[in-house]
Amino acid sequence: MTKENAIKNLDEVITKIEFSRLQVDNHKIVQLVAISKYSTAEDVQKLYESGQRAFGENKVQDLKIKQEALDDLPIAWHFVGSLQKNKINNLIDLSPVLMHSLDSLDLAEDLDKKLKAKNKKMNCLLQVNSACEDSKSGFSKDEAIDMYHKIKEKYTNINLKGIMSIGAHSEDRTQIIESFKTTKNIFDNCQGATICSMGMSGDFEMAILEGSSMIRVGSALFK
Ligand SMILES: *Cc1c(COP(=O)(O)O)cnc(C)c1O
Repeated sequence: MTKENAIKNLDEVITKIEFSRLQVDNHKIVQLVAISKYSTAEDVQKLYESGQRAFGENKVQDLKIKQEALDDLPIAWHFVGSLQKNKINNLIDLSPVLMHSLDSLDLAEDLDKKLKAKNKKMNCLLQVNSACEDSKSGFSKDEAIDMYHKIKEKYTNINLKGIMSIGAHSEDRTQIIESFKTTKNIFDNCQGATICSMGMSGDFEMAILEGSSMIRVGSALFK
């Protein structure tokens, strides 16, 4: 990716975000997290120099490598992938600003225990499988609200900030929109939740129109 491409890609995505955002609410803020998992530290740096500050990875090892390579830049690093138990301590040591993928009670229990042992806290989002797809992890839409409050009360070193979901894997826009509506409804029923993370390269405009406050965009930015 050239520097010119980085600027152009970022411009295009931000223009689309603005267009959708203004249809919902003048005052609405939508945060863009650039997902760099298929990309290199050099390309992250080019987007950074174009003005992007938040980046995300889906593997703990890749997060570590990119963080170290770009150590001198004040990047806000997010973690968006499924977290294996044997990687929990590694992730804690990397201190991501937000972990989007708290997807089971077991993981919450383990993560909280390991955070307590290190005397650290982590901002997390509860991942919800809003489209009810077997291929996706996350809490089912029926249990999500209860689990959100349960985790918030019980696991005190996890700072639950909101909900994350991946839109329905479908060509049918109505199905995708339906999955976003489900996610937004869950978000609205979670006390103190401020972040609704939904929308990726192929569907972030729909997600914003349905109330997303944070989108995770990979391929549209790194091309
Ligand atoms: C890869 C990934 C994204 C970005 O996907 P694109 O379609 O490339 O924008 C967003 N969220 C998660 C959880 C991902 O793994």
